[in-house]
Amino acid sequence: MTCRKVDLGNGAWIISCTRGEQRARCKVCRGSAGLLCDWKLKGPKAGKTCDAPLCERCAQSPAPDKHLCPAHWRVWEAHPANATKDQQHGG
Ligand SMILES: [Zn+2]
Ligand SMILES: [Zn+2]
Repeated sequence: MTCRKVDLGNGAWIISCTRGEQRARCKVCRGSAGLLCDWKLKGPKAGKTCDAPLCERCAQSPAPDKHLCPAHWRVWEAHPANATKDQQHGG
């Protein structure tokens, strides 16, 4: 962490400290985020993950240590193999 004195004029001054890492804000509620969306991207961004910052409340967890943003959670849930709703008959 780096701290420096910033002169505000009028004889007033503050100490401004910067950290390398800035606290992420939840994509949904703007709260402080501690999680990232683990959705694997396809196409040009293949190999990367969505990385949308999420708080614990807004993150959906399809599996342990896996978290999805609401948008990707919908996609995940819509996939037949992942359906968490009542199983439908037939097929
Ligand atoms: Zn949130
Ligand atoms: Zn996502």
